[in-house]
Amino acid sequence: MRLVASRIAQLRLMHILLNAYLKRIWRVDNARCPVCGEDEENTKHFLLRCPSYAHERWTLTQPGRSAKPSCYKYCWATLNLSYL
Ligand SMILES: [Zn+2]
Repeated sequence: MRLVASRIAQLRLMHILLNAYLKRIWRVDNARCPVCGEDEENTKHFLLRCPSYAHERWTLTQPGRSAKPSCYKYCWATLNLSYL
């Protein structure tokens, strides 16, 4: 639970390992989303707009379904460090 809270705080502060932040600290050359390639990968794109996470967003909005597995999957995506 602490890890999830930490990731949420990082998302709110925009200090998370998304390409918009990584470009700002000169760790990547391009801020484009590596998953969909459409926009800058910032917090708003990651949480609200990226078409690649549409299913996870849809799952979180469905009443009566357990969101726990999808929440973990969604947060786990933020831990992907393979592109550093
Ligand atoms: Zn995207």
